[in-house]
Amino acid sequence: MRVISSIITEHNLWLVCLAAVVSLAGSIVTMRLLERALRADGLQRWGWLFQAACAGGSSVWCTHFIAILAYQPNAPVTFDPTLTVASLAVAIVGLALGFAIAATTRRTSTAIISGGVVGLTISLMHYVGMAAYHVSGIIGSSHAYVAASVMLSLVLAITALATATQVERSFAAPVAALAFALAILSQHFTAMAALSVIPFASDPTNATVFETMAVAIGGVALLIVGTGVASQMIDSRARNETTRRLHHMALNDPLTGLPNRTSFAERLDRELARAEEEGHELAVIGIDLNRFKEINDFRGHSAGDQALRIIASRLTDCVKNGEFIARIGGDEFAALKDFRDEDVLLDFLGRLEIALFEPFEIDDFRAAAGASIGVAVYPQDGLTAETLIGNSDLAMYRAKSELNTAVCFYESRLDEVARERQMLARELRLALELQQFDLHFQVQISVTHATICGYEVLLRWYHPERGLIPPLDFIPIAEESGAILEIGEWVLREACRRAAAWQIPHRIAVNLSPVQFSQPELPRLVHEILVETGLPASRLELEITESTIIADKTRALHILRQIKALGVTIALDDFGTGYSSFDTLRSFPFDKIKLDRLFMNEVETNPQTKAIVRAVLALGKSLEVPILAEGVETDNQLALLRREGCDEAQGYLLGRPGPHEEILPYDDIFALFETELTTKAAQSA
Ligand code: C2E
Ligand code: MG
Ligand code: MG
Repeated sequence: MRVISSIITEHNLWLVCLAAVVSLAGSIVTMRLLERALRADGLQRWGWLFQAACAGGSSVWCTHFIAILAYQPNAPVTFDPTLTVASLAVAIVGLALGFAIAATTRRTSTAIISGGVVGLTISLMHYVGMAAYHVSGIIGSSHAYVAASVMLSLVLAITALATATQVERSFAAPVAALAFALAILSQHFTAMAALSVIPFASDPTNATVFETMAVAIGGVALLIVGTGVASQMIDSRARNETTRRLHHMALNDPLTGLPNRTSFAERLDRELARAEEEGHELAVIGIDLNRFKEINDFRGHSAGDQALRIIASRLTDCVKNGEFIARIGGDEFAALKDFRDEDVLLDFLGRLEIALFEPFEIDDFRAAAGASIGVAVYPQDGLTAETLIGNSDLAMYRAKSELNTAVCFYESRLDEVARERQMLARELRLALELQQFDLHFQVQISVTHATICGYEVLLRWYHPERGLIPPLDFIPIAEESGAILEIGEWVLREACRRAAAWQIPHRIAVNLSPVQFSQPELPRLVHEILVETGLPASRLELEITESTIIADKTRALHILRQIKALGVTIALDDFGTGYSSFDTLRSFPFDKIKLDRLFMNEVETNPQTKAIVRAVLALGKSLEVPILAEGVETDNQLALLRREGCDEAQGYLLGRPGPHEEILPYDDIFALFETELTTKAAQSA
């Protein structure tokens, strides 16, 4: 009652209200700044603590001064300037200390200690401020109220700090602010209730001056509070902006600004859930640019980037509400479209096609990327995101291989073959590591001398579930994926290593894929392997097909010449099928021509085939290049070859391809084999 009556009878109530507003506003800002400090770390934390201490100290000090100016002792009053300034310093330094303690750990004991320091600071500030306050009169003081004022500030400040440090709770800052404001106000007014003044003389003029001062202090206090609010606002804006930018970066492709793969996957999951719930269809569309690589290779990467940006912006322009398009890889895009009526989907695909096929101009050249588009539709082509993406890819690959259409819809019948290939391609990548490859050797003999001239090395893949997979089934896949480079290197190294250990130094013939000729370092690799395994270059023959030379003639011939210079011989495999161009024969001095096994199939029955075989053998004679006939299966074929002057032969009649262990005895039974062969040849002659 004493406190209330002191407020009502001895104070200017307007100024009391102003003091309350200042302390509450100041406390809210102080506690928010303290919360920010507790959430930050390092130098940032110290910055925020400094701000919190300044805002808190100023609030305590301003509240005190407005309230003291609201006090009407009806006696002349003066202020000691030094102590007045000192009281502000006490408030700021004391709170800085208290807040710093609160920031050290999250323990309750720490919060209580820091609250204690803050509570004592409020009281100390008050009494230092009161020491600066000189009234001309007899001043009485009640110790009980003084003690009560200190207790109140202690308890409420501890409550404030204990709540403020629980930053993860949403109510922490507002409750702490209320407790802090109450600590300041209750401390001050209880302490003031302790005071009794008997003035020496009455001085009524003081009142207006004091009011003006109080309002001025209130204004300054609110300015300080405003600064705190502003810095917090700037901080939270900056944080929101950074979060937004990081979010954008995580979900968008930096080059085109389109959503990226992650964003596409998220959106697909959501759209699938919606399609299931609402019972409509959803098209998953895979898009792969057709001629992007050309633009990139011939015009440079910056032109490639520009092309991607143009295409992306066209795609963005062509999508309507609810349609979604993303860039999911180098030149790969993906789109989503929900629909009930197929015409709606066809309209969307039409728009995509226009955007992708329309020519564009970059610098001084005009190009059109074009694209292959594959579509898989939920639910008929798959129920999960993974299946739908896989199936749209399969359809897209089919679109790539088809000449007259850019868009293909997934069809299980057609695309299963591709799926099988994809699976093999995946397994092929691991086959080398898992040691699933082996080499078979097939003998090549000299028809004229009836002697062994070498062995062709043939790759075998023992698949753990599918068993033996023939090379014609997996080599094209390995060529497509590029795995042939590693596999081919293994074949060459392994074949040379094994042959180097043979007692009889037969030659080996190793098949090379056209893809291996894309590596300019192929001659160096051959040389390295020869040195490493110790196989003389003259014992190695490399078999290439005509397609190697057709693919990139200048490059292939350059590489071939370098290899030949090492002393390695080069055979032209499978001659007679495919191009069979005289230009190929003219362009490089082959050491051997291998006549494809198709001719042996028919040589006995078809007079035309027989005529061609004769002509090829004659051609070999005049070019002085030995001819090897592949696929010799019967005695008659061998006899015919002998008659026509064929140099070498290879085929099931002479020996099937076999594992290394099985062909090794050939070295021992060589004599037997030779007599048998000679007898056979003599008989057929
Ligand atoms: P190619 O180089 O023309 O190899 C000869 C193929 O004819 C071998 O088939 C061989 O088993 C088969 N053959 C041999 N004699 C006869 C016969 O009398 N009758 C019949 N019908 N066939 C016979 P294979 O081993 O299945 O190899 C097929 C093709 O795979 C090879 O044709 C070659 O192009 C490729 N290839 C095999 N190994 C490798 C390799 O290590 N690297 C590369 N790049 N390709 C390889
Ligand atoms: Mg071959
Ligand atoms: Mg062949």
